[in-house]
Amino acid sequence: MSIQQDNIFQAIIAHAKEYGFVFPSSEIYDGLSAVYDYGPYGSELKKNIRDYWWKSMTQMHENIVGIDAAIFMHPTTWKASGHVDNFSDPMIDNKDSKKRYRVDHLIEAFADELQTKGEADKADSLLALMDKFLAAEDFVGLKKMIDENKITCSISGTCNWTDIRQFNLMFKTEFGAVASDNPDDNIVYLRPETAQGIFVNFLNVQKTARMKIPFGIAQTGKAFRNEIVARQFIFRMREFEQMEMQFFVRPGTEGEWYKFWKEERLKWHLSLGINENKYRYHNHVKLAHYAKEACDIEFEFPIGFKEVEGIHSRSDFDLTQHQLYSKKKQQYFDADVNPETGKPYGNYVPYVIETSIGLDRMFLLILSNAYEEETIHKEDGTTDSRTVLHLPSKLAPIKLAVLPLTKKDGLPEIARTLMNECKNSFKCFYEEKDAIGKRYRRMDAIGTPFCVTIDHQTKEDNTVTIRYRDSMKQERIPLDKIKALVLNEIM
Ligand code: ATP
Repeated sequence: MSIQQDNIFQAIIAHAKEYGFVFPSSEIYDGLSAVYDYGPYGSELKKNIRDYWWKSMTQMHENIVGIDAAIFMHPTTWKASGHVDNFSDPMIDNKDSKKRYRVDHLIEAFADELQTKGEADKADSLLALMDKFLAAEDFVGLKKMIDENKITCSISGTCNWTDIRQFNLMFKTEFGAVASDNPDDNIVYLRPETAQGIFVNFLNVQKTARMKIPFGIAQTGKAFRNEIVARQFIFRMREFEQMEMQFFVRPGTEGEWYKFWKEERLKWHLSLGINENKYRYHNHVKLAHYAKEACDIEFEFPIGFKEVEGIHSRSDFDLTQHQLYSKKKQQYFDADVNPETGKPYGNYVPYVIETSIGLDRMFLLILSNAYEEETIHKEDGTTDSRTVLHLPSKLAPIKLAVLPLTKKDGLPEIARTLMNECKNSFKCFYEEKDAIGKRYRRMDAIGTPFCVTIDHQTKEDNTVTIRYRDSMKQERIPLDKIKALVLNEIM
């Protein structure tokens, strides 16, 4: 990350705190690493992103239904899913600084340095070799790479490394009050992904909602991972929220559905009006053994292009594993006729395409894309500045600010009437304090797309001044047109 990029990232973090979007968790006790709380405007923005995703999945697709599964699950779930044995990252410790690194992050940071030094080819071949070693779980090869390239710790500056070890990312806790001879009996995990809550409910949902393949199950909810490297604000957290959808398809059709969801999900991102150039796909080279295809949708964050969402073609791996461990059939009867045989497709374990996006990461995407420190060139030749969040109107925490010019002369009463008319339909904000320019700036800083000023002329002709956040243009329109104008922009 360049100094300039780092400055922007730090400015966004500071802005998020100052304006009530994101606070460090339990800050009065100096915070808890990689855990964050959302403030008054942050919780609204987060909810709006979640609702926008939920609506696009469960309302706009007739064949997708939602569930809300518990965070705690039977511990065997995580045996079956492979998380107990495999949900780990290779890590390495620097013996001098005692700092722990994820091996892939350490090597990627070194490759970034090579890039900035103009040694792009060397960086590329290093990353390709790393992918090969990671896929083969060849830790000796990886360690040799680190040694041979003299990769150093950013704190101690030394190459004094431990061997590479696996580190499981799941949090464990104890369940119930009954003591057992075997302490493992009481262990439950905090779910590291929401997906398994969908898989174990596959038949419950299919039967009760009478779903026919192809169909999807969507869910949003908290997930927990004991991340090794956790210092990128809400990009990588230990407690975070996911929005996941598992789409169940007939075996043999997974290729076309993977392609469909890969395109559909990018369209969803672009529907928020974000510049297409800030997105790219990253197709996975290293695939899980059961996976058929996988890619990430990456976004250009201030910290560089990074994953925001994963699309994975998971074959019948998860349902087959749960069938094996639970000894309960996880099959679907497909009555449609196979044109090749003239008979119904019959019973099978469906294949799955997964779309998985982090809500907090999407929040960071929206926030960093919206943030601007703008210089305003005024007509008299002078300049001014403002910090503005160009949030998509439908996601903005507050849609409309209602601002009486003064606290008297009946203006607050007119403003209150407008508030009462609108507040049932969208979130409004009322303020009488300070000069109007100052009030506009505060609304710019939290991304409110529309401000309405009620002044003395309003009393005469029932018109108000509407001020648009992005252009800062102002125009006079009838008071009774405001609600429809805002609704039109946020639907
Ligand atoms: P990464 O490579 O960044 O660790 P991942 O490939 O492990 O991510 P998935 O398991 O595919 O991520 O999870 C799906 C999505 O959940 C990610 O695309 C990301 O948006 C989000 N996510 C995963 N881990 C975290 C985390 N620690 N903090 C915030 N969001 C996360």
